[in-house]
Amino acid sequence: MIEYELQGPHSEERSRIRLISALREGRFPQSVLIDGPAGIGKKKLAMELVRALMCTHPDHRPCGECFNCKMASNPEAVDLWLVPLLAKEASAKSAAEATSKTTAKTVEEYTKECVEKIVENPYSIEYLPPGATISVDLVRSLTKRFALKSSGVRCVIIAEADRMNTSAANAFLKTLEEVPPNTYFILTTESRDLLLETIRSRCLSLHLQPWTDDEVRSELEHRNGEAPSADVLGLSLGSPGRAMFFAENAMHLTELAVTFVNKSLEGDFSFLLKLVAEKVADKVVDDVNNVALFLDVLSFVLADIVRRQSGLSLRLPSAMEGVSERALNLTPVALNEALKTVQDTARMVASRSVNILVALQSLAIKLFDGYRQ
Ligand SMILES: [Zn+2]
Repeated sequence: MIEYELQGPHSEERSRIRLISALREGRFPQSVLIDGPAGIGKKKLAMELVRALMCTHPDHRPCGECFNCKMASNPEAVDLWLVPLLAKEASAKSAAEATSKTTAKTVEEYTKECVEKIVENPYSIEYLPPGATISVDLVRSLTKRFALKSSGVRCVIIAEADRMNTSAANAFLKTLEEVPPNTYFILTTESRDLLLETIRSRCLSLHLQPWTDDEVRSELEHRNGEAPSADVLGLSLGSPGRAMFFAENAMHLTELAVTFVNKSLEGDFSFLLKLVAEKVADKVVDDVNNVALFLDVLSFVLADIVRRQSGLSLRLPSAMEGVSERALNLTPVALNEALKTVQDTARMVASRSVNILVALQSLAIKLFDGYRQ
């Protein structure tokens, strides 16, 4: 009997046990859907699973030594991946169409650039540009990959599967019906609800739980050589990828959020509007991703004021030292209204229905509207 062992944190153990028993009993489903918050390690688990499925070791998989195990962690192996691309990248020529005279990048090269980032840090929450999607052409390219005969197991990891539009999703369903045996798809998504029910129902579904603070801390120590600060752990929400992002960006994002609260409450709009314009120009908050993370930090600061008033422990103990006395004395109603205003802004930014600079500047004015004295 072949023994399987998948690596990962204790918090993921239930998901690993389900996968291992399916592998052991030889009833592995054709497609697996891994969902969970950003940066939690969905692609990391997918890669581990690909190794286990493709490994050729006679009794212990993944062995980490055989050709297939090594291929599973090689960014050159672009056939193992389907990743979202920007429209101009997805419509580039494929390697098969390119001639020796072609100098423009091919779809495979764009995919490889993305896979390199994933292999280097599968937890990263900033590896994709906003607006990258899985187009119907990319999905159709799967069928071509499977046209070549192969005796072994084949796997494809579909990262951020919810970035398929309806026609891509329908093409994927068709692909599922046509693929040869011994072919497995591992889909990852931040929210399974964003996928078509017809796809969800065909997958073994796994939901990854947030990590404990200790697990996040030790992963960051292992990667960065230093422990994350209390504020970074507080912002991570049990996601090592978020912790890595905030380990690099927490300082200026928390500082900006605290200034936002203090200055907006003072009604010092000329200062704040200028500051926002500078931060947009400096690309600190200039796209859907980093603005969403900034608004998250701002919500955390507001929520921490509530926590402090209620005598609860703070998520951002260091950043809270900069919050003005006046802000610390805001009424619960004012804080609740402010939180709602931030959430409304986050929704508008996510739906791309508003210019980012305008959204942040009007947030600066609206934040404590009616509660300034
Ligand atoms: Zn192996």
